[in-house]
Formats: sequence, structure tokens, C-alpha cells
Amino acid sequence: MPNYCVNKNAQANGDHEVHRDGCSYLPAPANQHYLGNHLTCQSAVLAAKQVYRQSNGCAYCSPACHTS
Ligand SMILES: [Zn+2]
Repeated sequence: MPNYCVNKNAQANGDHEVHRDGCSYLPAPANQHYLGNHLTCQSAVLAAKQVYRQSNGCAYCSPACHTS
């Protein structure tokens, strides 16, 4: 299962983006909140929402979980 993290910094629209390991758009390590291993990005986004209510999948590494 891949590791996921959520960006501690919100995007301009207020979303905290959820990324999986190896994404080209990972935030700087200091801005990554580790979410652990998840089978699906849906599960990772749910975990992120426990921390940041407005969380959204990254359009590049987790397009199935990205809503615009
Ligand atoms: Zn990503």
C-alpha cells in the first residue's frame, strides 16, 4: 500500500491536497502531514479530513479523489 501525506499548507482555494509517495507535486517535507499507508486515495482523503476538514486529492497522483 502506498504512503500518503497531506499538505499542511492550504491551496489558494482552501484545499489541503493529499498526495501519495513519489508524486512530483509533494510539498516540502516540513509541510507534509503523514497519513500512513492506504489502499485507496479515498481512504487517505478521509484520514486527511480528520485533520483538515477541507482536504482534496491531488489532481496528478490521486485524480480519482480530486474534485474541483
Ligand atoms: Zn500529488
